Amino acid sequence: MTTRLGTASAGPGEVDTGRLEVGETRDGSPFGLPVAVVNGAKPGKTLYVQAVSDGDELHGVGVVQRVVPQLDPAEIAGTILFVGIVNYHAFQVAEHRNPIDDTKMNRAYPGSENGTSSERIAAATFDAATRADLILDLHQGSTSRMIDEVRVRCGKRHRLHDDCLELAKAFGCGYVLDQKGPDGQLARAAPDEGIPTVDPELGGAVGWDEESIRKGVDGVFNVLSYYDFLEEPIELERQTRANGFEQYGASCGGLVDFEKELGDEVARGETLYRITTPFGETKETVTADSDGLLWRTRRLPQVATGEYVCSLGTDLDSY
Ligand SMILES: [Zn+2]
Repeated sequence: MTTRLGTASAGPGEVDTGRLEVGETRDGSPFGLPVAVVNGAKPGKTLYVQAVSDGDELHGVGVVQRVVPQLDPAEIAGTILFVGIVNYHAFQVAEHRNPIDDTKMNRAYPGSENGTSSERIAAATFDAATRADLILDLHQGSTSRMIDEVRVRCGKRHRLHDDCLELAKAFGCGYVLDQKGPDGQLARAAPDEGIPTVDPELGGAVGWDEESIRKGVDGVFNVLSYYDFLEEPIELERQTRANGFEQYGASCGGLVDFEKELGDEVARGETLYRITTPFGETKETVTADSDGLLWRTRRLPQVATGEYVCSLGTDLDSY
């Protein structure tokens, strides 16, 4: 059966790329999101993958552009739908939010066909995503520094929680944040439609970090193997799971000197970082409020009072 997504159309054993038209830009030209359809020669499940929902998060499109050329539809059972760049307008200007309506795309799901710019893009991609049996929404810790991890956002009481957790384990970054996300996330809205969904969060960088992209590529292939799109055997690996997330903000201004590396485990009371003057004097020493793992840090060393410094994944276990 021919599968279509926007102008992309692929019969069994074929790959096609095209555009999913969503509206017009300010000069009146129609615009569309770049899409690809990989239609396997054999029947199977459908996987939906999207990238650049946040316009400055480029690792996802790095993953997509490396994965698609490696897929041989003759070897695949099932169909894979890709949207390579979701936040079209933000991507053009390398910003996080859609500049047309100053909205964060991942708060706009499931979207609205007649809504704002972001709501319309959300509705068009939600429509495509909900044709699938599994959804990967490729994100990263924006331009801050972050470990590579996968987020389960549906919440522990959701009927699809175990399925989402399994998908996160199959992706296999090694770390999972299992915490209900804010309203409007694709990984919140799609499980309500009965589709296991996760947000792989592939590190954090300005531009491309090849190591995080490689983890994303491996993750997509792990999912394809585990859910039988590919015949490759796969053994699931245990994941370190954070059930809580603690943020630290600066209580004074200065330069942040971290005493721990990203991915380090820390015990409650251990020093996380110091805030220092330009002459190396310590203004404040900040210790961990809980046991946890250093999950994310700011990129630039200088902080003003109240600015974000870092986050700990807390309440750790493994599964
Ligand atoms: Zn994001």
